[in-house]
Amino acid sequence: MVETRVIDGKASAASLRRRVAAAAAELAARSGIVPGLAAVLVGADPASEIYVRSKAKATREAGLAGFEHRLPAAASEAELLALVAKLNADPAIDGILVQLPLPPQIDPQRIIAALDPAKDVDGFHAENVGRLWSGGRALVPCTPWGCLVLLRETTGTLAGAEAVVIGRSNIVGKPMAALLLAEHCTVTLAHSRSRDLPAIARRADILVAAAGRAELVRGSWIKQGATVIDVGINRVAGDGGKSRLVGDVAFAEALGIAGAITPVPGGVGPMTIACLLRNTLIAACRRRGLPEPAV
Ligand code: NAD
Repeated sequence: MVETRVIDGKASAASLRRRVAAAAAELAARSGIVPGLAAVLVGADPASEIYVRSKAKATREAGLAGFEHRLPAAASEAELLALVAKLNADPAIDGILVQLPLPPQIDPQRIIAALDPAKDVDGFHAENVGRLWSGGRALVPCTPWGCLVLLRETTGTLAGAEAVVIGRSNIVGKPMAALLLAEHCTVTLAHSRSRDLPAIARRADILVAAAGRAELVRGSWIKQGATVIDVGINRVAGDGGKSRLVGDVAFAEALGIAGAITPVPGGVGPMTIACLLRNTLIAACRRRGLPEPAV
């Protein structure tokens, strides 16, 4: 049995938001620049509404300027492309976030391709993806960046570690693998077709679960002392007919085996918005050729 440290994502996110706020205040004092983040919401998906609202609050609290653009659920792709073009050209906007999912008449890939890569604070544009994999200066997707911040804080150096990422989405799994490779980990990217996933997972010093499958990773899949980052957010039936959130890792089983683990909720989740603010600040500095704050 090892004593498992439960990683406090809320505290790490609050600390990152404070660092962003301090750097933004310094930028404003030095050059009068207030980084601007535009959130675009098409339709009224309830989860997206909540997310956009908490983003707006965090943006204000960090001293950045937040702008919200709403289009009706029936908006055409051309309308959204026109809005993106307007935001690309607006000097007050440093970051553009188009909230996914989009309604079926709009192709998300065409929208992402239309974003100015310098303002693509979600890091989804092919130019940022290419830069990430080729070691250039990319804007990196927020959730995997948040995972990396937690890993660095938890384990210090990652060089040489065996890292296993479960899930190969463009939003989480693939960029996570690229980031861990850049940290000199030996990286395995596992997915739904991987053979003998438990054996692959058991190799991991660092295990990142991002499959979106409730409690897929059992305690027996985890190497003694491994650091486990649980990205999954799954709603399952709980006691008394109420639903509850669980991750992709069977948390109770991992206790006593993992060296450290992120809980769900309260682990990776809070980091995502904090990283979005960081990306907006970084984008504002890069676009103007100013030195980047180390946040
Ligand atoms: P996705 O559905 O796009 O991708 C899931 C990936 O997991 C796929 O590559 C698939 O191959 C793999 N997978 C599915 N079932 C598997 C299985 N049984 N075994 C091995 N691999 C399997 O999902 P996503 O957008 O990458 O999100 C993954 C999870 O992370 C979801 O629960 C999502 O809600 C959560 N998420 C959380 C945050 C956050 O802020 N904390 C952000 C984004 C996503």
